[in-house]
Amino acid sequence: MDCIFCKIIIGKAEAVFLHEDDLVVAFLDIMPVNEGHALVVPREHHERVETLDEATYLHLFKIGRDLMRQIQTAFADVTAFNFIIANGKDAGQEVPHVHLHIIPRKLGDGFGYKFGPNYGKIVSIDERKATAKKILDR
Ligand SMILES: [Zn+2]
Repeated sequence: MDCIFCKIIIGKAEAVFLHEDDLVVAFLDIMPVNEGHALVVPREHHERVETLDEATYLHLFKIGRDLMRQIQTAFADVTAFNFIIANGKDAGQEVPHVHLHIIPRKLGDGFGYKFGPNYGKIVSIDERKATAKKILDR
């Protein structure tokens, strides 16, 4: 088994846990954007969210919000948060085991999104309708 998160979950690799229950665990990111950056991870190995059962998926976010509140209380200079799931390699997923990043943010911390060359173009209402049709007409 090569999955580092599975190793952490069964105690074969080191991590600092913030939460453990039957469905998910949470631990501090080894390479945090800011102090307190945590990961919420389903106990069961799933590479992507598509295969997570509904209860686990919802619980992941519930625990994420609970942790966010605790992190907010712990660090007075934290003013905002990003909740991020990179769902697949092309979205920046580095560990192929679902994980929700809880990233504490503060003004001027330097973290941000990088937009591609196609970003910035306003898409017309007709083009948006055509996109919605592609998504919904199945
Ligand atoms: Zn795993």
